[in-house]
Amino acid sequence: MEEFDIEFVKLKNGIHQFEYQLNGSFFDFFKNQEVKNASISVKAVMNKFDNLLQVDIEGTGTIDLICDRCLSDVTYPVENNFKSIYHLNSIEEKIDEAQEVNLDVFYLSGSQFKINISESIYQSFITEIPMVTRCDDIEDNECNPEMLDKIDSLEEAKSDGNEIDPRWEELKKLLNNKEK
Ligand SMILES: [Zn+2]
Repeated sequence: MEEFDIEFVKLKNGIHQFEYQLNGSFFDFFKNQEVKNASISVKAVMNKFDNLLQVDIEGTGTIDLICDRCLSDVTYPVENNFKSIYHLNSIEEKIDEAQEVNLDVFYLSGSQFKINISESIYQSFITEIPMVTRCDDIEDNECNPEMLDKIDSLEEAKSDGNEIDPRWEELKKLLNNKEK
């Protein structure tokens, strides 16, 4: 995640802009199981002052999740912003647990020369991920009827005590995990 490092000591006071493209591996890094893939453009604008850094993160794009009902991929639009304030040359090094949603306040000691904004970027998107994912959450979209039929017949087969195709068993496991 070094690409999200900002060596602020090397930068002059004033506005600096950074751009990033996120894909699925960004969410893998944070061990996120929900997001299967992503395509997000992130813009971070840092305003540097003598004793303060203000970082505004803005991102838009899509994330791919799996429907809890029919197991199809669902592509969600996401758009969010997140603000981080870094107090520099602080005696204590600490993070204020966000008093506000989408804001983090950090206190950096005088020996720190860089920040890493990957965590703030990640945080800005986890609030965008729905608790329950359904195809019909997206306008003009609906669950795959074939998949629903297969899942139904699987349910029946299970209650009849019949042997189940192991591939479907895997899918069921996935579905059950999502419900937990
Ligand atoms: Zn669905």
